Amino acid sequence: MTDRTGHCLCGAVRFTARGMEDTFSTCYCDMCQRWGGGPYRGVTVPTEGLEIEGRSHIGILKTSAFAERAFCKKCGSGIWWRMVAGPYVGKTSIPVGLLDDRTGLTPSSVTFSDLKDHTNLPPEGVEELDSEAVAKIIETIERTL
Ligand SMILES: [Zn+2]
Ligand SMILES: [Zn+2]
Repeated sequence: MTDRTGHCLCGAVRFTARGMEDTFSTCYCDMCQRWGGGPYRGVTVPTEGLEIEGRSHIGILKTSAFAERAFCKKCGSGIWWRMVAGPYVGKTSIPVGLLDDRTGLTPSSVTFSDLKDHTNLPPEGVEELDSEAVAKIIETIERTL
């Protein structure tokens, strides 16, 4: 676990993330790729460890029955992806690209790996979950809603 800082493209939204994981996950789902223009790479932090400056600049888009995506209303940078219902509430995923220092971060899992192509290859040697595997997890989550 590491404390890290970061900010959006324009700097209106800044944060300190305390107790952030030292691994990042990669997602190739269609929503993530449209949201960020490519595969999403995120680092998880306990939501209670996330201290935000410039909160009034944050817009929230609910993108599924159980998750939301936050963005800077000034510059459009994605700020977080977070579950808002189900068993994983309490954790927030922050795009790796927002972090001021990525030292020590190593890749963990890849989700929707079947949706990758030659323009967005994942890190090698990590666990990959295809859409079917992710769908099973989503079913588990939806059963708790
Ligand atoms: Zn911004
Ligand atoms: Zn995704």
